[in-house]
Amino acid sequence: MAKRKVAKITNDCINCMACASVCDFDAIREAESGEKHEVIPENCTYCQTCMGMCPVSAIIEDTVTE
Ligand code: SF4
Ligand code: SF4
Repeated sequence: MAKRKVAKITNDCINCMACASVCDFDAIREAESGEKHEVIPENCTYCQTCMGMCPVSAIIEDTVTE
């Protein structure tokens, strides 16, 4: 089991979609609720590109164990 950093979108997300359009790894999608976006950890390389795009700083660092 290894730990790996990934991006995570908090409930502060206002669903502006800016992050999804800059992710080169198809790792961001609209959440099922339709009220926010979410990261697909399996696809996220933690390149951090999305983090600089978020107007409300809703994208934070998270860790997954694989
Ligand atoms: S950190 Fe990079 S790979 Fe991960 S969701 Fe953001 S833009 Fe996509
Ligand atoms: S850029 Fe920020 S506010 Fe916009 S959809 Fe992504 S996480 Fe949500």
